[in-house]
This record gives sequence, structure tokens and C-alpha cells, in this order.
Amino acid sequence: MPARPRPSWDDYFINIAWVVASRANCLRRAVGALIVMDKRIVSTGYNGTPFGVLNCDEGGCPRCASDVPAQAGYDWCLCVHAEQNAIALAARQGTATDGAYLFVTLRPCFGCLKEAVQAGIREIVYDQSFEYHADLEDAYQSLLRQSGVMMRQHNYSAAHSVPPVATHATGDIGPEMPTQE
Ligand SMILES: [Zn+2]
Ligand SMILES: [Zn+2]
Ligand SMILES: [Zn+2]
Repeated sequence: MPARPRPSWDDYFINIAWVVASRANCLRRAVGALIVMDKRIVSTGYNGTPFGVLNCDEGGCPRCASDVPAQAGYDWCLCVHAEQNAIALAARQGTATDGAYLFVTLRPCFGCLKEAVQAGIREIVYDQSFEYHADLEDAYQSLLRQSGVMMRQHNYSAAHSVPPVATHATGDIGPEMPTQE
């Protein structure tokens, strides 16, 4: 037995993803993501406005600052999702993502799932769940099956304390995701 308990890899990475989420500047739900290759973090991302744009929590995104409900007005939201940022910032610095793992504090939206598939992500591990409309859930599951990307929940925050951002995540402000037209 080791002298002190060490966290599992899942615990370790999800915990770090929560620390990443604490840097989110979006007025809506804070999310953090990591891209992990061979048990090493090669990219991180949290949600917020793109570089060069005023932070969301400083008024940078008119949509997030408005009173539109969660999942509405998505087309004009300026905020980049945590997973999108992790993938885009890897691209920006020339870091391969093919065959990597994606750890994220919230189950990815359909758009981020598509982008993760295309970035070559092999497995997605998320902490908090999110319920989708039945039609979207069908498309989501179909994409998982066809792409072969693995996805599983590791509900770390249910049993461990995480940075304060996590307590807001149980509110009624949903994650950013495409509206169903
Ligand atoms: Zn925002
Ligand atoms: Zn926004
Ligand atoms: Zn997303």
C-alpha cells in the first residue's frame, strides 16, 4: 500500500478540468476541458469570448448578457466552448489531437462532439450530465456509434469538492448548445 492514497487518472484529470473551468469568463455556465495524450495534458480550454473580444463577463457577448433563456439565441453567441477552445488552441500551437482523450466538466454539446470526432479524439470523459431533447439525443447517440468515439461519465463532482464554479453548474442556466429548429 502506498503511504498516501493517490487519485485515479480519471479523478486527477477531471479535478484539473474543474480548475480550468474556474478561469471561464462566460456569464453562463463555466466549463473546463483538457486534451490528454499518453496521460499528459497537451491542451486546455474554458468557455468564453475569442481572443481580442471583451470577456463575456465584461459584456463581450451581447447574447450571454441578455435575458434569453439557456439554449436560445445560440447562433449569435460569441462564446467559444471549453472543448472548442482546447481543440483550437492545440491547432494554434501545432499540437496533435489524433488519438487523444478529452476530459470535460460537462457532457459536451452536439457541436463539440462533432468537432471532437473530427479532431481525432478517441474517448471523452465528462463529469456532469446534461439532458438533451429526444431528437438531439438520437442524433448524438448515432454520431457516437458511427464515429466509434467512446464516451463515459466520471461523476467526480458528486463525491469530491471542486472549485466554487461547480456549485453554480447545478443552476437552471444550461450549457451552450444548438437550438433545435
Ligand atoms: Zn458567454
Ligand atoms: Zn455568448
Ligand atoms: Zn459545446
